Amino acid sequence: MELENWRDKAACKNHTDLFFSNVRRDGLKALYLCKRCPVRQECENFANQFTDVSGIFGGKLYRKKVEAKVPPRRLICGTVEGYQLHKRNGEFVCVECDYANKETKRSMDYLWA
Ligand code: SF4
Ligand SMILES: [Zn+2]
Repeated sequence: MELENWRDKAACKNHTDLFFSNVRRDGLKALYLCKRCPVRQECENFANQFTDVSGIFGGKLYRKKVEAKVPPRRLICGTVEGYQLHKRNGEFVCVECDYANKETKRSMDYLWA
């Protein structure tokens, strides 16, 4: 089927903004449209041709596969940032980070005393 052919019948034809929105409610509206869409299968087939689509197609949420591969932020030990990252990850705080955190606190206390 021609690309334009099925696009013309799409339930989302005049609501494409909903499909690329970061607002959850918009996403839900979009999925609702897909549910009633007569060209859902064509739409899904279309999306499956690509590895880097993101948005809603055929009633499914696609995220760019490259996004999933982004490595977690590198931890730089011996910094307050490192300390906070350990905490956020629920990890054991290493000696360097613990020290950096205490030192910073100490100098803060000194500054504000
Ligand atoms: S399935 Fe959803 S995204 Fe695809 S054309 Fe229909 S309404 Fe649009
Ligand atoms: Zn550390």
